[in-house]
Amino acid sequence: MNIVLNGASGSGKGTLARFLAADYGLQHVSTGDIFRENIAKKTELGRKIESFVSQGLWVPDDITIAALLDRIKQSDCRNGIILDGFPRTLAQAKALDLAIVIDYVLAIEVTDEVVIQRLGGRFICKDCNEIHNKRWDKTEKCKVCGGELFQREDDKEETILRRLQNFRANNDEILNYYRERGKLLLVKDKIENSPEMTYKLF
Ligand code: ADP
Ligand code: ZN
Repeated sequence: MNIVLNGASGSGKGTLARFLAADYGLQHVSTGDIFRENIAKKTELGRKIESFVSQGLWVPDDITIAALLDRIKQSDCRNGIILDGFPRTLAQAKALDLAIVIDYVLAIEVTDEVVIQRLGGRFICKDCNEIHNKRWDKTEKCKVCGGELFQREDDKEETILRRLQNFRANNDEILNYYRERGKLLLVKDKIENSPEMTYKLF
């Protein structure tokens, strides 16, 4: 089974992806994580994309598609994947359809207010990438591995707004693309919901 998770930054899709991956034995594939890893390791890909990611601009389609297709060819993706942060453009959605069959697209609808509040409180484990939020995770260290938590460079208000604008400008046509193909499940999220509560809505 292959699932696409769709939602703005801060919609909680990264956290949902982790729940789904654990419950259904699927591999979590996040283009944001792939990019951040490559930046940290200073790979050739990392050097190419660093300035886009740090400014909250999208990485060009050709680079993003190549990186994703390369990742999902690996053996840990054989039993199915949860895609988080991909596709974000129609070109990416079409390239994906040429490579694998997507069974469901789970879309989380959130208001700008939710996004700004959640991203402002987001902290990530530097060792295992686990996502935490000050609002419901009352820990100083990672709740999974005890690692140190940090706030992402691109989780500043100005950058958050730019990512949100990009998302809103492109997402309707992606949702329509999957709706026409009968794959779309849409859930409206509420500001007071934790990711655990949103997961139960699906
Ligand atoms: P968020 O969902 O919080 O914005 P991600 O971790 O998904 O963050 O992505 C971080 C950054 O990586 C994005 O701001 C963008 O620069 C880049 N990125 C990730 N996925 C894509 C994609 N599918 N297309 C283009 N750029 C992407
Ligand atoms: Zn951790």
